Amino acid sequence: MKSLNVLAPAEQHWSCHSCSGCCRQHEIEITAAEKARIEAQNWPQTGEIPPGQPLFEPLGRSGRWRLAHQADGGCVFLRPDGLCRIHARFGEAAKPLACRLYPYAFHPAGGRDVRVSLRFSCPSVIANRGRPVTDAAAELRRLAGAALPSELQRISPPALADGIPLRWSECQRVVDELAAWVEIPELGWPERLMAGGLWLQLLAAAWRESPGERADEAAATARVLAKGIVEQLAANAAPQPDRVAWTVFRQHVGFYARTDAPTLRGKVVHRWKLLKASLAWASGFGRLVPLVEGLRPTAWKQILHDTGGWPEGSDALWRRYFRVKLHGLHFAGAGFFGWSVLDGFAALAAVLPVTLCIARWRALSEDRKRITLPDVHFALAIADHNHGYSAGVGNRAARRRIRLLGRDGGKPLYALCRRLIGDER
Ligand code: SF4
Repeated sequence: MKSLNVLAPAEQHWSCHSCSGCCRQHEIEITAAEKARIEAQNWPQTGEIPPGQPLFEPLGRSGRWRLAHQADGGCVFLRPDGLCRIHARFGEAAKPLACRLYPYAFHPAGGRDVRVSLRFSCPSVIANRGRPVTDAAAELRRLAGAALPSELQRISPPALADGIPLRWSECQRVVDELAAWVEIPELGWPERLMAGGLWLQLLAAAWRESPGERADEAAATARVLAKGIVEQLAANAAPQPDRVAWTVFRQHVGFYARTDAPTLRGKVVHRWKLLKASLAWASGFGRLVPLVEGLRPTAWKQILHDTGGWPEGSDALWRRYFRVKLHGLHFAGAGFFGWSVLDGFAALAAVLPVTLCIARWRALSEDRKRITLPDVHFALAIADHNHGYSAGVGNRAARRRIRLLGRDGGKPLYALCRRLIGDER
């Protein structure tokens, strides 16, 4: 097979620091071949796994399997020193593919090109700790080869919007432009994100009107229009989000403010907690039920209070986050539930206000009024744990929520961002 052309994000560093977070928070689904391989490793004979501890759990009645977890929440193969038993005994290649890939994500980008993104649920990714990702080219090629189908050419680029397919070259130009919007230092985050979404909507409208003429002029005209509209909005008082926008956004935060609970899955007590949490997020009344360790029951109204500015370091984190996700095509097409660039960018933009809400929740849970950079790291790790991976943020209901927030050129999402983030500039 011809070698893959792996394109890694230049600004991102990463090395595993064995914190074992991923081995506790993630459900690792395994293939039938991986299950057979692990069974052949004869774990009961090693004495490393307590008698009676199952190695696998069925995934409902689907006929599929995942790795089991210990009573303390860690993966069945997690050692007390944070290392993996399979890795230690048989080497990295013997582990399930999902464990080998994490925190990398590989997305086809046309021909032999593969774009690399990273999951910010890993604390070392968030903190940008370790060696430059670009230094790991050989390892990335090997992992991408294992993760992706051999017939890469058959994979289509994401659509720009419903009914507007893109060629790979067009997709790249569109993504480059989005990356440029999130870099404009003279605009605040609400304006940068709205400008990118608005530019996409104007471009989609122009291409729909004249499908044969996808000239650069349409993109340039949309650029001028989007910047003008956004600068005007920024100069005016913050628009007030309407009740629908608040309700939809609150529900959206509810789907991000949770982590897998592999040891609780399927248990009646957990289902009851999920139901209570869903009701609180839907109604906005009462105290929100935490589905993440480190949060305590808190009223939604409290989360909306101003917490006095983003902590130092947040701006650089957000720039890196958006660049990595855009560069790695980790927001649309194969990188995000098959969504179009337009819907996927709106969902990606919404991660910022969602993260702010979770960060405020964490500060309140520790009786603090101001959020700190560790709060932002904590919140982004949870949000990105779900973004692109949990059904609740990628199903039809989620797309309806995102389209409601993105209607009228993205004004509802912008109004929410100004209301929540405007104070935090
Ligand atoms: S969460 Fe990241 S740093 Fe921690 S064990 Fe997993 S890959 Fe390593």
